[in-house]
Amino acid sequence: MILFGPPGVGKSVYCSMLEKDLGLKQFSTGEFSRFLRPANLEQNKMFNHEEVLDIESKVKNGELLNDEIINKIVKPRLIEAQSNGIILDGFPRTLNQAKFLSENLRIDMMFSISLRQDILIRKLIGRRICPQCSQAYNIVTINEDGYDIPPMLPKNNPCQCDNCKVEFIQRHDDVQEVIEKRQLIYMDQMKDILDYYRESGLLCEFEPKKGINDYPKMLDAVIEFVNKREVV
Ligand SMILES: [Zn+2]
Repeated sequence: MILFGPPGVGKSVYCSMLEKDLGLKQFSTGEFSRFLRPANLEQNKMFNHEEVLDIESKVKNGELLNDEIINKIVKPRLIEAQSNGIILDGFPRTLNQAKFLSENLRIDMMFSISLRQDILIRKLIGRRICPQCSQAYNIVTINEDGYDIPPMLPKNNPCQCDNCKVEFIQRHDDVQEVIEKRQLIYMDQMKDILDYYRESGLLCEFEPKKGINDYPKMLDAVIEFVNKREVV
């Protein structure tokens, strides 16, 4: 299963929940590239120093990584996934990557999570993460036009990560300018890919207007879609 969604729609949260409920492993390329900092170089021997610097600057500026790098990151996971099943998050982003993917993996479904653009941008500005464990939180409440998205606050202290008891922070690339740039790049790149999968009947689309409270409906949609395809 491949998970699509613009940056900040809540993919990683939904992905963890789907992972548990569907018994699949998840792999997020965005998450992976954030680990590619010089300090983590020794653990990631996949790239040379120049490539790492290049990846670092692109991630920092909200730019997307090129096909060659992404394919290199994803390939070992695809081989693993043949037997276990996988949720890919953040891949493919180009038609080239989509091609690479269908050559390497049988795909059951493409699941696209979306939110109206202005709602999404407001939500992104409210995003906070724990500097130690990267747990995501959100301080924004949205309640209008049928949207009813609660904030995602820590359970104990309203400003501290539940796991680490340290104050959460705003990611350096979660500023309005970078957010809007990422959205534009995403829509521009994904349009063709989504159309392509929509035409092939593999695309299932869902808008979680009630945020995390819509998760049960989302899970139902996924299961129903897969069952329907198996019957056909
Ligand atoms: Zn934490």
